[in-house]
Amino acid sequence: MSHNRYVRSHELMARAVRCIPGGVNSPVRAFRAVGGSPVLIASARGAWLTDVDGARYVDYVGAYGPHILGHNHPEVAAAAARAAADGFSFGASTEAEVMLAEAICGRVPSVKMVRLVNSGTEAAMSLLRVARAFTKRSLVVKFDGHYHGHCDSLLVAAGSGAETLGVPDSPGVPGELAKLTAVLPWNDEKAAADFFRAHGQDVACVIVEPIAGNMGVVPPAPGFLQLLRILTAQYRAILIFDEVMTGFRVHPGGAQALFGITPDLTAMGKVIGGGLPLAAYGGHEQMMALVAPLGPVYQAGTLSGNPLAVAAGLAALQALTPAVYERLETTSAAVAEILSGEAKAAGVPVQVQRAGSMLTPFFSERPVNNIQDGRACHLARFRAFFQALLDNGVFIPPSQYEAWFVSAAHDGQALEHTRAAVRKAMQAAAAG
Ligand SMILES: *Cc1c(COP(=O)(O)O)cnc(C)c1O
Repeated sequence: MSHNRYVRSHELMARAVRCIPGGVNSPVRAFRAVGGSPVLIASARGAWLTDVDGARYVDYVGAYGPHILGHNHPEVAAAAARAAADGFSFGASTEAEVMLAEAICGRVPSVKMVRLVNSGTEAAMSLLRVARAFTKRSLVVKFDGHYHGHCDSLLVAAGSGAETLGVPDSPGVPGELAKLTAVLPWNDEKAAADFFRAHGQDVACVIVEPIAGNMGVVPPAPGFLQLLRILTAQYRAILIFDEVMTGFRVHPGGAQALFGITPDLTAMGKVIGGGLPLAAYGGHEQMMALVAPLGPVYQAGTLSGNPLAVAAGLAALQALTPAVYERLETTSAAVAEILSGEAKAAGVPVQVQRAGSMLTPFFSERPVNNIQDGRACHLARFRAFFQALLDNGVFIPPSQYEAWFVSAAHDGQALEHTRAAVRKAMQAAAAG
């Protein structure tokens, strides 16, 4: 590692911190949990990023979820460029919006009607409004360590960003509002059943990441999602799957298709925008019929269904063939094998937890099933591991509590590069 390797990044960050809070436009991009200063990216192609100093990295951040096909996928890039040539935004509907809505409803059977928005935050926030209007109840149930964007009601015990910074509840969220959000431990059947016995009549909805990804990857315990479906049905509460991360990633029909569970409402994002700002919410016809202008629940957006984002999203969904999902599975299994194999060789206890092309290597002696288990991770080892990976050209999220994303563009060469870097990084972790 040359001493000047990050010189341009450091210069730019020194300017950034003067005019942007913390120098970043999303806190997860800061390096506070790992130390040092963020690298700034100049360009990306396939599985690779190039930073502003010209260094290259195999990318496992994937922009935190969208880039399932790899960066700058030719068909996605061409679709966005074609749309750009026809104009950027009209304040009127387009044919492509109809096509994307049909493509979503065709892939996710529980989604009978869908509304396009700009971010996962908006999708989750809007679903709370729909659920509260439909049930005429106020109480929202979420799980400790699950993230559903930064709307007030859901910024309670909210996973990676908050966990990393050590502020589980954000100042600025009124206590009166936070009281309407109940937080349950993830994967704890008894706690869920007990809570419903006591408060089930008041619950408007349960919102859940069907595979938790925002505290690192923590899959549901067998039967846990089924129990949530049963409890919500029994008490006439709404079950919301937040599939902003898992949707179109773990299965063409999302985690709900993978597990065979039908939620009432679903939030989507990330993959469906092909890397541009696009998200969606949808589900049961009678519930979605409440949304304006069909119904009285107000929700709107100047740039919603933006033609560039819709074109990129549609091209991405069309490029996600069964062969691509098969390839993703094989490649992701190989990445997991590299991590556990090299950890073992270096004598470092690591739990590699994976769901399809999302995975997290937890520096822990035992499996991580909830946020409590996560707190037992060896963060000094993670920091040493992260820094060594960066220095050796592998870009991962700068936090122990995030998912890595594998793309269909990760090829043999990217994996060989990854193995060599992981070997060095596990040795650094063993020393750290
Ligand atoms: C990323 C994410 C969100 C928030 O989406 P934004 O587009 O960042 O607002 C919500 N829920 C889940 C599960 C996510 O992973």
